[in-house]
Amino acid sequence: MEHLPLIILGSGPAGYTAAIYAGRAGLTPILYEGLQPGGQLTTTTEVENFPGFPEGIDANELMENLRSQAERFGCQIRSAIAVKTDLSAAPYHLWFDDESEVTCDALIIATGASAKYLGLADEEKYRGQGVSACATCDGFFYRKKTVAVVGGGDTACEEANYLAGLAAKVYLIVRKPYLRATQIMQERVLNNPKIEVLFEHNTLGLFGENGVEGAHVVFRKGEADERRYDLPIDGFFLAIGHKPNSDIFRPWVKTDEIGYILTEGDSPRTGIPGIYAAGDVADPHYRQAVVAAGSGAKAAIEAERYLATLPTN
Ligand code: NDP
Repeated sequence: MEHLPLIILGSGPAGYTAAIYAGRAGLTPILYEGLQPGGQLTTTTEVENFPGFPEGIDANELMENLRSQAERFGCQIRSAIAVKTDLSAAPYHLWFDDESEVTCDALIIATGASAKYLGLADEEKYRGQGVSACATCDGFFYRKKTVAVVGGGDTACEEANYLAGLAAKVYLIVRKPYLRATQIMQERVLNNPKIEVLFEHNTLGLFGENGVEGAHVVFRKGEADERRYDLPIDGFFLAIGHKPNSDIFRPWVKTDEIGYILTEGDSPRTGIPGIYAAGDVADPHYRQAVVAAGSGAKAAIEAERYLATLPTN
Protein backbone atom coordinates (compact mmCIF):
# COMPACT_ATOMS: atom_id res chain seq x y z
CA MET A 1 0.00 0.00 0.00
CA GLU A 2 1.16 3.50 -0.78
CA HIS A 3 2.61 5.35 2.20
CA LEU A 4 2.82 9.15 2.24
CA PRO A 5 4.46 11.45 4.76
CA LEU A 6 1.76 14.13 4.67
CA ILE A 7 -1.79 14.12 3.39
CA ILE A 8 -4.03 17.17 3.22
CA LEU A 9 -7.77 16.58 2.84
CA GLY A 10 -9.68 19.48 1.33
CA SER A 11 -9.12 22.15 -1.30
CA GLY A 12 -10.47 25.31 0.27
CA PRO A 13 -8.30 28.16 1.56
CA ALA A 14 -7.19 26.03 4.55
CA GLY A 15 -6.14 23.01 2.48
CA TYR A 16 -4.31 24.99 -0.21
CA THR A 17 -2.54 27.25 2.27
CA ALA A 18 -1.40 24.18 4.22
CA ALA A 19 -0.17 22.75 0.89
CA ILE A 20 1.77 25.93 0.04
CA TYR A 21 3.50 25.96 3.43
CA ALA A 22 4.16 22.21 3.47
CA GLY A 23 5.41 22.32 -0.12
CA ARG A 24 7.82 25.15 0.64
CA ALA A 25 9.04 23.14 3.63
CA GLY A 26 9.96 20.32 1.25
CA LEU A 27 7.33 17.89 2.56
CA THR A 28 5.87 17.09 -0.91
CA PRO A 29 2.30 17.00 0.37
CA ILE A 30 -0.50 15.15 -1.40
CA LEU A 31 -3.76 17.06 -1.37
CA TYR A 32 -7.11 15.36 -1.99
CA GLU A 33 -9.62 17.87 -3.38
CA GLY A 34 -12.68 16.24 -1.85
CA LEU A 35 -16.37 16.81 -2.49
CA GLN A 36 -16.20 20.39 -3.67
CA PRO A 37 -12.96 21.23 -5.48
CA GLY A 38 -11.94 24.76 -4.48
CA GLY A 39 -14.13 24.54 -1.39
CA GLN A 40 -17.13 26.57 -0.37
CA LEU A 41 -15.76 29.82 -1.75
CA THR A 42 -16.37 28.53 -5.26
CA THR A 43 -20.10 28.75 -4.52
CA THR A 44 -19.83 32.48 -4.03
CA THR A 45 -19.02 35.26 -6.50
CA GLU A 46 -16.79 38.14 -5.56
CA VAL A 47 -14.59 37.99 -2.47
CA GLU A 48 -14.16 41.50 -1.13
CA ASN A 49 -12.61 40.77 2.24
CA PHE A 50 -9.57 38.63 1.41
CA PRO A 51 -6.57 40.90 2.12
CA GLY A 52 -4.44 41.91 -0.83
CA PHE A 53 -7.21 42.49 -3.37
CA PRO A 54 -8.35 46.11 -3.01
CA GLU A 55 -10.91 45.74 -5.79
CA GLY A 56 -12.04 42.27 -4.66
CA ILE A 57 -11.37 39.06 -6.56
CA ASP A 58 -13.55 36.46 -8.25
CA ALA A 59 -13.79 33.49 -5.84
CA ASN A 60 -12.94 30.90 -8.50
CA GLU A 61 -9.93 32.93 -9.59
CA LEU A 62 -8.73 33.14 -5.99
CA MET A 63 -8.99 29.36 -5.61
CA GLU A 64 -7.25 28.77 -8.96
CA ASN A 65 -4.43 31.05 -7.77
CA LEU A 66 -4.11 29.12 -4.52
CA ARG A 67 -4.07 25.84 -6.40
CA SER A 68 -1.33 27.02 -8.80
CA GLN A 69 0.69 28.33 -5.88
CA ALA A 70 0.42 24.97 -4.10
CA GLU A 71 1.43 23.08 -7.26
CA ARG A 72 4.38 25.43 -7.82
CA PHE A 73 5.84 24.19 -4.54
CA GLY A 74 5.46 20.52 -5.37
CA CYS A 75 2.03 19.68 -4.01
CA GLN A 76 0.37 16.85 -5.92
CA ILE A 77 -3.40 17.20 -6.20
CA ARG A 78 -5.69 14.18 -6.39
CA SER A 79 -9.44 14.20 -6.91
CA ALA A 80 -10.65 11.32 -4.71
CA ILE A 81 -12.88 11.71 -1.67
CA ALA A 82 -11.92 10.15 1.67
CA VAL A 83 -14.71 7.84 2.86
CA LYS A 84 -13.18 6.15 5.91
CA THR A 85 -10.23 6.61 8.24
CA ASP A 86 -8.45 4.69 10.94
CA LEU A 87 -6.58 7.18 13.11
CA SER A 88 -6.22 4.82 16.08
CA ALA A 89 -2.44 4.57 15.69
CA ALA A 90 0.29 5.75 13.32
CA PRO A 91 0.71 5.16 10.43
CA TYR A 92 -2.79 6.48 9.84
CA HIS A 93 -4.98 4.72 7.31
CA LEU A 94 -7.33 6.35 4.79
CA TRP A 95 -9.76 4.85 2.29
CA PHE A 96 -11.06 6.76 -0.76
CA ASP A 97 -14.13 6.57 -3.00
CA ASP A 98 -12.03 5.39 -5.95
CA GLU A 99 -11.18 2.25 -3.90
CA SER A 100 -7.64 3.42 -3.21
CA GLU A 101 -6.07 3.21 0.25
CA VAL A 102 -3.06 4.99 1.68
CA THR A 103 -1.27 5.32 4.97
CA CYS A 104 0.40 8.48 6.20
CA ASP A 105 2.51 9.85 9.02
CA ALA A 106 0.70 13.17 9.27
CA LEU A 107 -2.74 14.36 8.20
CA ILE A 108 -4.25 17.81 7.86
CA ILE A 109 -8.04 17.71 7.92
CA ALA A 110 -9.34 20.71 5.96
CA THR A 111 -12.61 19.23 4.75
CA GLY A 112 -14.70 22.32 5.46
CA ALA A 113 -18.43 22.36 5.90
CA SER A 114 -21.44 21.63 3.66
CA ALA A 115 -24.70 23.46 3.12
CA LYS A 116 -27.61 22.49 5.35
CA TYR A 117 -31.13 21.75 4.13
CA LEU A 118 -34.42 22.21 6.00
CA GLY A 119 -35.08 18.46 5.98
CA LEU A 120 -38.26 18.61 3.89
CA ALA A 121 -39.01 15.59 1.72
CA ASP A 122 -39.74 18.03 -1.12
CA GLU A 123 -36.15 19.32 -1.05
CA GLU A 124 -35.03 15.83 -2.06
CA LYS A 125 -37.85 15.47 -4.58
CA TYR A 126 -37.00 18.70 -6.39
CA ARG A 127 -33.22 18.70 -5.98
CA GLY A 128 -31.80 19.86 -9.31
CA GLN A 129 -35.35 20.73 -10.40
CA GLY A 130 -35.69 24.02 -8.60
CA VAL A 131 -33.97 23.34 -5.27
CA SER A 132 -30.40 24.50 -4.81
CA ALA A 133 -27.98 25.50 -2.06
CA CYS A 134 -25.77 27.51 -4.39
CA ALA A 135 -27.04 30.67 -6.05
CA THR A 136 -23.86 31.27 -8.01
CA CYS A 137 -23.95 27.72 -9.39
CA ASP A 138 -27.62 27.72 -10.38
CA GLY A 139 -28.78 31.34 -10.45
CA PHE A 140 -28.23 31.50 -14.20
CA PHE A 141 -31.25 29.22 -14.71
CA TYR A 142 -33.57 31.72 -13.05
CA ARG A 143 -33.08 34.78 -15.22
CA LYS A 144 -36.25 36.90 -15.17
CA LYS A 145 -37.95 34.31 -12.93
CA THR A 146 -39.12 34.37 -9.31
CA VAL A 147 -37.07 32.69 -6.62
CA ALA A 148 -36.98 32.35 -2.84
CA VAL A 149 -33.93 32.25 -0.60
CA VAL A 150 -34.25 30.78 2.90
CA GLY A 151 -32.16 32.20 5.75
CA GLY A 152 -31.35 35.46 7.47
CA GLY A 153 -27.54 35.36 7.73
CA ASP A 154 -24.80 36.79 5.54
CA THR A 155 -24.97 33.89 3.12
CA ALA A 156 -28.72 34.33 2.58
CA CYS A 157 -28.34 38.07 2.03
CA GLU A 158 -25.43 37.57 -0.35
CA GLU A 159 -27.35 34.94 -2.33
CA ALA A 160 -30.50 37.10 -2.43
CA ASN A 161 -28.51 40.05 -3.77
CA TYR A 162 -26.78 37.91 -6.34
CA LEU A 163 -30.06 36.38 -7.51
CA ALA A 164 -31.71 39.82 -7.66
CA GLY A 165 -29.20 40.63 -10.40
CA LEU A 166 -30.66 37.83 -12.52
CA ALA A 167 -34.20 37.08 -11.41
CA ALA A 168 -37.30 39.25 -11.74
CA LYS A 169 -38.17 38.88 -8.04
CA VAL A 170 -36.53 37.41 -4.95
CA TYR A 171 -38.30 36.50 -1.71
CA LEU A 172 -36.10 36.15 1.35
CA ILE A 173 -37.80 33.74 3.77
CA VAL A 174 -36.65 34.56 7.32
CA ARG A 175 -37.96 32.65 10.32
CA LYS A 176 -37.29 35.42 12.85
CA PRO A 177 -38.60 39.02 12.84
CA TYR A 178 -35.08 40.25 12.05
CA LEU A 179 -32.01 39.41 9.95
CA ARG A 180 -28.88 37.99 11.56
CA ALA A 181 -26.58 39.23 8.77
CA THR A 182 -24.03 42.03 9.23
CA GLN A 183 -25.33 45.59 8.86
CA ILE A 184 -23.90 46.20 5.39
CA MET A 185 -25.44 42.98 4.02
CA GLN A 186 -28.81 43.78 5.61
CA GLU A 187 -28.81 47.22 4.04
CA ARG A 188 -28.05 45.82 0.60
CA VAL A 189 -31.01 43.45 0.88
CA LEU A 190 -33.45 45.94 2.38
CA ASN A 191 -32.55 48.58 -0.22
CA ASN A 192 -32.88 46.26 -3.19
CA PRO A 193 -36.28 46.85 -4.83
CA LYS A 194 -36.31 43.34 -6.31
CA ILE A 195 -36.02 41.67 -2.89
CA GLU A 196 -39.01 41.22 -0.59
CA VAL A 197 -38.17 40.01 2.91
CA LEU A 198 -40.79 37.70 4.42
CA PHE A 199 -40.07 37.92 8.15
CA GLU A 200 -41.49 35.31 10.54
CA HIS A 201 -42.07 32.86 7.70
CA ASN A 202 -41.36 29.14 7.49
CA THR A 203 -41.52 26.77 4.55
CA LEU A 204 -43.77 23.72 4.91
CA GLY A 205 -43.27 22.17 1.48
CA LEU A 206 -42.86 22.71 -2.23
CA PHE A 207 -45.14 21.93 -5.13
CA GLY A 208 -45.03 21.76 -8.91
CA GLU A 209 -45.67 19.39 -11.80
CA ASN A 210 -42.38 19.79 -13.65
CA GLY A 211 -40.02 21.16 -11.04
CA VAL A 212 -40.75 23.75 -8.40
CA GLU A 213 -43.73 26.00 -9.10
CA GLY A 214 -44.28 27.24 -5.58
CA ALA A 215 -43.75 26.89 -1.84
CA HIS A 216 -46.28 26.28 0.92
CA VAL A 217 -45.34 28.86 3.54
CA VAL A 218 -46.65 29.83 6.94
CA PHE A 219 -46.53 33.24 8.61
CA ARG A 220 -46.28 33.30 12.44
CA LYS A 221 -46.64 29.55 12.83
CA GLY A 222 -48.52 28.65 16.00
CA GLU A 223 -49.59 32.26 16.74
CA ALA A 224 -53.17 33.53 16.86
CA ASP A 225 -52.66 35.32 13.54
CA GLU A 226 -51.01 32.35 11.80
CA ARG A 227 -51.53 32.47 8.03
CA ARG A 228 -50.73 29.71 5.55
CA TYR A 229 -50.49 30.42 1.86
CA ASP A 230 -48.76 29.41 -1.36
CA LEU A 231 -45.90 31.48 -2.74
CA PRO A 232 -45.46 31.07 -6.51
CA ILE A 233 -41.72 30.59 -7.20
CA ASP A 234 -39.56 28.87 -9.80
CA GLY A 235 -36.49 28.31 -7.63
CA PHE A 236 -35.90 27.58 -3.94
CA PHE A 237 -32.43 28.36 -2.55
CA LEU A 238 -31.22 27.23 0.86
CA ALA A 239 -28.83 29.47 2.78
CA ILE A 240 -29.32 28.34 6.38
CA GLY A 241 -25.79 27.54 7.40
CA HIS A 242 -23.44 24.61 7.15
CA LYS A 243 -22.51 21.29 8.72
CA PRO A 244 -18.83 20.47 9.28
CA ASN A 245 -17.56 17.57 7.16
CA SER A 246 -16.12 15.59 10.03
CA ASP A 247 -18.16 12.36 10.10
CA ILE A 248 -15.32 10.06 9.01
CA PHE A 249 -13.03 11.43 11.74
CA ARG A 250 -15.53 11.43 14.59
CA PRO A 251 -14.58 7.99 15.95
CA TRP A 252 -11.07 9.35 16.55
CA VAL A 253 -11.02 13.11 17.07
CA LYS A 254 -12.99 15.14 19.59
CA THR A 255 -15.82 17.24 18.18
CA ASP A 256 -18.50 19.48 19.62
CA GLU A 257 -22.14 18.38 19.45
CA ILE A 258 -22.57 19.79 15.91
CA GLY A 259 -19.44 18.04 14.65
CA TYR A 260 -16.85 20.84 14.60
CA ILE A 261 -13.47 19.31 15.40
CA LEU A 262 -12.11 20.51 18.73
CA THR A 263 -8.48 21.58 18.67
CA GLU A 264 -6.04 22.44 21.45
CA GLY A 265 -6.25 26.13 22.33
CA ASP A 266 -5.85 28.23 19.22
CA SER A 267 -3.60 25.61 17.59
CA PRO A 268 -4.75 23.15 14.91
CA ARG A 269 -3.63 20.15 17.04
CA THR A 270 -6.36 17.56 17.55
CA GLY A 271 -4.63 15.75 20.39
CA ILE A 272 -3.65 12.84 18.12
CA PRO A 273 0.06 13.10 17.19
CA GLY A 274 0.43 14.27 13.59
CA ILE A 275 -3.28 14.92 13.03
CA TYR A 276 -4.35 18.54 12.57
CA ALA A 277 -7.65 20.24 11.72
CA ALA A 278 -7.78 23.54 9.85
CA GLY A 279 -10.45 25.78 8.36
CA ASP A 280 -14.22 25.57 8.72
CA VAL A 281 -14.27 21.92 9.85
CA ALA A 282 -12.84 23.18 13.13
CA ASP A 283 -14.22 26.71 13.19
CA PRO A 284 -17.78 27.32 14.35
CA HIS A 285 -17.03 30.97 15.10
CA TYR A 286 -15.37 32.84 12.24
CA ARG A 287 -15.76 30.73 9.07
CA GLN A 288 -13.85 33.21 6.94
CA ALA A 289 -11.50 32.40 4.07
CA VAL A 290 -8.64 34.39 5.55
CA VAL A 291 -9.04 32.70 8.94
CA ALA A 292 -9.13 29.29 7.25
CA ALA A 293 -5.97 30.16 5.31
CA GLY A 294 -4.24 31.18 8.55
CA SER A 295 -5.18 27.95 10.27
CA GLY A 296 -3.94 25.98 7.23
CA ALA A 297 -0.56 27.68 7.61
CA LYS A 298 -0.47 26.79 11.30
CA ALA A 299 -1.35 23.16 10.56
CA ALA A 300 1.46 22.84 8.00
CA ILE A 301 3.99 24.34 10.42
CA GLU A 302 2.84 21.90 13.12
CA ALA A 303 3.04 18.97 10.67
CA GLU A 304 6.54 19.97 9.61
CA ARG A 305 7.72 20.06 13.24
CA TYR A 306 6.04 16.74 13.98
CA LEU A 307 7.48 14.98 10.92
CA ALA A 308 10.95 16.22 11.87
CA THR A 309 10.69 14.26 15.12
CA LEU A 310 10.02 10.93 13.40
CA PRO A 311 12.97 8.53 13.00
CA THR A 312 12.66 8.24 9.20
CA ASN A 313 12.70 12.03 8.65
P1 NDP B 1 -25.55 31.69 9.79
O1 NDP B 1 -25.48 30.57 10.74
O2 NDP B 1 -24.94 33.00 10.14
O3 NDP B 1 -27.09 32.02 9.45
C1 NDP B 1 -27.99 30.99 9.17
C2 NDP B 1 -29.37 31.60 8.92
O4 NDP B 1 -30.24 30.55 8.55
C3 NDP B 1 -29.94 32.28 10.16
O5 NDP B 1 -30.69 33.41 9.79
C4 NDP B 1 -30.85 31.20 10.71
O6 NDP B 1 -31.95 31.69 11.39
C5 NDP B 1 -31.35 30.54 9.45
N1 NDP B 1 -31.75 29.16 9.67
C6 NDP B 1 -31.03 28.14 10.21
N2 NDP B 1 -31.75 27.01 10.25
C7 NDP B 1 -32.96 27.32 9.74
C8 NDP B 1 -34.15 26.59 9.53
N3 NDP B 1 -34.22 25.30 9.84
N4 NDP B 1 -35.20 27.22 8.99
C9 NDP B 1 -35.14 28.53 8.66
N5 NDP B 1 -34.04 29.29 8.83
C10 NDP B 1 -32.97 28.69 9.38
O7 NDP B 1 -24.96 31.10 8.43
P2 NDP B 1 -24.38 31.84 7.15
O8 NDP B 1 -24.11 30.73 6.21
O9 NDP B 1 -25.24 32.92 6.70
O10 NDP B 1 -23.00 32.47 7.64
C11 NDP B 1 -22.00 31.66 8.24
C12 NDP B 1 -20.80 32.51 8.59
O11 NDP B 1 -20.14 32.95 7.41
C13 NDP B 1 -21.17 33.77 9.37
O12 NDP B 1 -20.18 34.00 10.32
C14 NDP B 1 -21.17 34.83 8.31
O13 NDP B 1 -20.90 36.12 8.83
C15 NDP B 1 -20.05 34.36 7.38
N6 NDP B 1 -20.26 34.84 6.01
C16 NDP B 1 -19.61 35.98 5.62
C17 NDP B 1 -19.78 36.49 4.35
C18 NDP B 1 -19.04 37.73 3.98
O14 NDP B 1 -18.39 38.31 4.85
N7 NDP B 1 -19.07 38.17 2.75
C19 NDP B 1 -20.64 35.84 3.35
C20 NDP B 1 -21.29 34.66 3.85
C21 NDP B 1 -21.09 34.19 5.14
P3 NDP B 1 -31.83 32.29 12.88
O15 NDP B 1 -31.23 33.64 12.75
O16 NDP B 1 -33.26 32.30 13.28
O17 NDP B 1 -31.02 31.32 13.68
